[in-house]
Amino acid sequence: MSTKKKCPVMTTADGNPIAMQQALTAGPRGPVLMQDVQLLEQMQHFNRERIPERVVHAKGSAAHGTFTVTGDITGHTKANLFSEIGKKTDVFLRFSTVAGERGAADAERDVRGFAIKFYTEDGNWDMVGNNTPVFFVRDPYKFQNFIHTQKRDPKTNMRDMDMQWDFWSLCPESLHQVTILFSDRGLPRSYRHVNGYGSHTYSFINDADERVWCKFHFKTDQGIENIMDDEAASIIASDRESHQRDLFESIDRGDFPSWTMHVQVMTQQQADTFKWNPFDLTKVWPHAEFPLIEVGRLELNRNPENYHAEVEQSSFSPSALVPGIQPSPDKMLQARLMSYADAHRHRVGNNFQQLPINRPKCPVFNSQRDGAMATASDYQGRANYWPSSREGMPEVDPELKDPAWSLGEAVVDRFDSTVDHDDYTQPGDLFRMFDDEHRDRLATRIAGVLGQARVEVQHRQLCHFFRADPEYGTRIADKLGIDTSSFMQDAADHVEA
Ligand code: NDP
Repeated sequence: MSTKKKCPVMTTADGNPIAMQQALTAGPRGPVLMQDVQLLEQMQHFNRERIPERVVHAKGSAAHGTFTVTGDITGHTKANLFSEIGKKTDVFLRFSTVAGERGAADAERDVRGFAIKFYTEDGNWDMVGNNTPVFFVRDPYKFQNFIHTQKRDPKTNMRDMDMQWDFWSLCPESLHQVTILFSDRGLPRSYRHVNGYGSHTYSFINDADERVWCKFHFKTDQGIENIMDDEAASIIASDRESHQRDLFESIDRGDFPSWTMHVQVMTQQQADTFKWNPFDLTKVWPHAEFPLIEVGRLELNRNPENYHAEVEQSSFSPSALVPGIQPSPDKMLQARLMSYADAHRHRVGNNFQQLPINRPKCPVFNSQRDGAMATASDYQGRANYWPSSREGMPEVDPELKDPAWSLGEAVVDRFDSTVDHDDYTQPGDLFRMFDDEHRDRLATRIAGVLGQARVEVQHRQLCHFFRADPEYGTRIADKLGIDTSSFMQDAADHVEA
C-alpha cells in the first residue's frame, strides 16, 4: 500500500476532475477548440473576478474579533449584546480611507471609515462610523454632491482642490470636519491608532420601553498616533499598503489591537434644552456635559483567510439594527438607512446578506425570496407569504415593538439646513484646544491646498475660519499672503449680527 499523501484533485467549478492544464488544440500550433470547456470557464470566471468597487471607502482592511462587555448599560438599553458583564460577541471590523479608489495609497490625509459588524443573537448590528465624531454635511441632499467633490473632476479626471474648497466654502457646516481633517488627526499612523465614532445620534431603548438618545465612541487602546505629511510622502513612495500591512502583520504575530467602547446618553428633556440640535451630525456632545460611559472592549484577533470573500464582500448597513438600538431623527442617518443596503444590492447582489461574511449567526426568516445567488438555507420550502396558516411559519413578536415617538407639531417642509445653525463655535473650540505648533501645522496644510483654489473661493473660505476664531483665519491668510483687514470686519459683523 502506498504511503504517499493524496493531494486534492484539481476540478472545474462543477467539481469535474481536471486531467491536464494545456490548451486543447487541433495540432501543436493551434487553433484552440471550443470544446476546451475548462479553459473557457477559467477565462470567463476571470473576466468577472472584480465586483464594482465601493463608490466611497473603496480601499479597506479588516479583521475578525471579539467584543466583551465590561460596563453595565442595561438601564439604558435592552440590546442583548450588552446584557451582562463578560458577555462576548463576535465582530468583524473594516477600516478604510474615503476618497481613494481600491488601489489608492493608505497613508493619505483623509477620514478613516470604521465599520463594525456585531454578530449578535438578535441578528447583526452594523455600527458604520468613521474616525471622526462629526461629518461634513447635515442634509442628505448634499451627501452625493460632497462625495463628487472628493473624487475626480468630470472633465480633467483629476482630483481638484478648487472643486473641494468651492463646495466647503459654500457649506460652512463642513468647517468642523474640515478642521479635524487638516489637524494632526487627519493623517493617522495606522488603523490601529485611530478612534472610531458612530458619529450619528441613535436611540437606546430599555426594558421599560424608555428611550434615550446615544452616541458611540471606540477609543484606541494603542493610543492615537499620527504622522506628518513628509513622513507620509516617503511611506507612500515605498508602500501603498502601509495600513493593511500594519494591521495584518500585527494580528499575525499575536499583537491584537483593541478599542474601549464608550457611550454618551442624553434624555429627551436634555435634548429639548441642549444648545445645539442633538441630531445634527456636524456637532459633538461636549464630554463635560455628557460624560463617556464605559461599555466594553473590542479586540481584533483573527485575520481574514480570503480578502475578497471576507473584506471586499463585507457589507455594512446602518439599517442593520437590533432591539434596544434604533435610529434617531438625524436626517443623514435616515438617508443612510436606505442608501447603504441599496449600494450593496447593486455592488454585491440582492442576496448579499446570505454570504458567509455578512450572514447573521442566528436563523433568518421572512417572506423575501429568490434573486441571484439565493441559498435559501433558512427558509427552504416554507411559505413565502404572511400571514400564513401553513406549518413552520414563524410569527412576529409584538413585545419587541419600539415605543411610540412623538414628533410634536412637526410640519412637513424642505427646511434650509444652512440657516439658524451655529457652524462656528465647535470648530473654534477645537482650534483653541490645539497648541501653537499644532495651529501652525493646521494653517500650513490648509493654505497649501486652499491656495490651489480660485481667489474668490479662498476669500469665501477665509471668512469661515475667521468666524470660528480670528486667529484661525489670520494664520491661514498670512500663509496665503492675503490682506486680512476686510475679513476681520466681515467676521466682526457676523459676530455682532
Ligand atoms: P473635551 O475637552 O471634553 O473633548 C475634547 C476631545 O477632543 C478629546 O477627548 C479628544 O477626543 C478630542 N480631540 C483631541 N484632539 C483632536 C483632534 N485633533 N481632532 C479631533 N478631536 C480631537 O471638549 P468638547 O467635548 O467640548 O469637544 C471639543 C472639541 O473636541 C469638539 O469640538 C470636537 O471637535 C472634539 N471632539 C469632541 C468629542 C466629544 O464627543 N465631545 C469627541 C471627539 C472630538 P477623544 O477623547 O475621543 O480622542
